[in-house]
Amino acid sequence: MADPKGFLTTGREVARTRPVGERVKDWNEVYVPGSLLPIIGKQAGRCMDCGIPFCHNGCPLGNLIPEWNDYAYREDWSAASERLHATNNFPEFTGRLCPAPCESACVLGINQPAVTIKNVEVSIIDKAWGNGDVTPQPPERLSGKTVAVIGSGPAGLAAAQQLTRAGHTVAVYERADRIGGLLRYGIPEFKMEKSHINRRIEQMRAEGTKFRTETEIGKDIDAAKLRRRYDAVVVAAGATVSRDLPVPGRELNGVHFAMEYLPLANKVQEGDLTVSPITAEGKHVVVIGGGDTGADCVGTAHRQGALSVTQLEIMPRPGEDRNANQPWPTFPMLYKVTSAHEEGGERVYSVSTTHFEGDENGDVQALHLVEVEFKDGKPEQKPGTERSIPAQLVTLAMGFTGTDQANGLVQQFGLALDERGNVARDADFATNVDGVFVAGDAGRGQSLIVWAIAEGRSAARGVDRYLTGASALPAPIRPTDRALTV
Ligand SMILES: Cc1cc2nc3c(=O)[nH]c(=O)nc-3n(C[C@H](O)[C@H](O)[C@H](O)COP(=O)(O)OP(=O)(O)OC[C@H]3O[C@@H](n4cnc5c(N)ncnc54)[C@H](O)[C@@H]3O)c2cc1C
Ligand code: SF4
Repeated sequence: MADPKGFLTTGREVARTRPVGERVKDWNEVYVPGSLLPIIGKQAGRCMDCGIPFCHNGCPLGNLIPEWNDYAYREDWSAASERLHATNNFPEFTGRLCPAPCESACVLGINQPAVTIKNVEVSIIDKAWGNGDVTPQPPERLSGKTVAVIGSGPAGLAAAQQLTRAGHTVAVYERADRIGGLLRYGIPEFKMEKSHINRRIEQMRAEGTKFRTETEIGKDIDAAKLRRRYDAVVVAAGATVSRDLPVPGRELNGVHFAMEYLPLANKVQEGDLTVSPITAEGKHVVVIGGGDTGADCVGTAHRQGALSVTQLEIMPRPGEDRNANQPWPTFPMLYKVTSAHEEGGERVYSVSTTHFEGDENGDVQALHLVEVEFKDGKPEQKPGTERSIPAQLVTLAMGFTGTDQANGLVQQFGLALDERGNVARDADFATNVDGVFVAGDAGRGQSLIVWAIAEGRSAARGVDRYLTGASALPAPIRPTDRALTV
């Protein structure tokens, strides 16, 4: 145990963010660089090394949190990194982006602020990279088997790294021009700088994983042909079809899916564009959808110089404390103030958009909404509450409905879908097609990075068993796991 009295003597502290006025003028990560290191040892020392560490269950990867807290407290960064990588291929992604369900399950959190687990995680991995402890781990021998991974988001990357290290020859196919999936083109630079992805790709290349960008399976290469070319295939194509809002005026200029808006802002940061063709500069912006994607639109709009930013959510405003039906150690729905919300804008709850209004050029100018209340789980409009707000840019961030079928991927393989429109799989992450497996949002539906990595690791074990008859690879989850949490 790190410090037997740590939780009594030390209060919770988290990473400091840069002043709002400074950070909205750039796209760098919002945190004060290096601010964690002076505090993190003591924060790790608050861990009680519980007999039953509920945080293990809270984390879909089963991260060995008390073990690495102990090493971080003792400043044995190399051992901490080894324990961290035992369960997580990419802690620099989760340490920056995970909503930390582990902290909701932390035993200390029953009557005190939880251990700042996510910040310890990111400190360990940043230190490990800085110390040169993250090195390629190529396999000792090759199996002679080949695997194609379709999609280079966190699920595909985790599956590819596990299978490469197990000795298989792995190629990752990605339709976009760069590797990373939503990490690259969904999540903005101010939440995670893309240099973190680039560094991992270099490690993976050095281990032997091959990457083929701008290659869409189903369109550029027939899926059935790909199956014949490889001994096994992992479909990690995400759930990239955005949910639409079919109300009058949807066709107006300036009404876009969030995933039309955010990738262009990321392309500016990559240096591909000087200005985004869809910009919030000088506009009243309305973001429809109150989740992570919506918050990313809010932060992006601030940085582009929006006149105002309003975020709409159909659900009521969540409470600030757990309610009775979300007790510890579950992951509660709480009112969250993300870094983007700290930067300004207004959040409006319990409202539904009725229509958009445009000018003579077909450009959106206003959004009409009405207040709603939920009865028997369904939103009902409240008469007399209609109003309009100015809107010259509207982004739709209302979630995703499933994996993309337009390119023929699903049909060419002959993949069966489940009742929610995701690719169906068995306990080994195998689909109905021999030798074809599925991992990440494509199988689970829209989820989180931590789940995508856990899925990629678990599917890799299924593939390894399929190819060799046995596997020493770990499988942190089963396809049906929803855990205690998210
Ligand atoms: C804007 C936004 C912000 C988010 N923020 C967070 C956050 O802060 N924290 C968090 O935990 N989660 C967040 N999420 C969710 C998280 O990003 C996803 O759950 C996760 O990326 C899913 O990983 P994946 O590998 O399954 O799929 P994806 O990351 O979607 O990757 C799938 C990849 O497959 C490629 N592909 C698809 N079809 C083909 C094909 N036929 N051929 C070749 N390639 C193909 C796609 O181009 C894509 O690159 C966010 C999501 C969005 C949209
Ligand atoms: S990956 Fe997420 S849930 Fe797991 S330890 Fe890290 S922050 Fe917690």
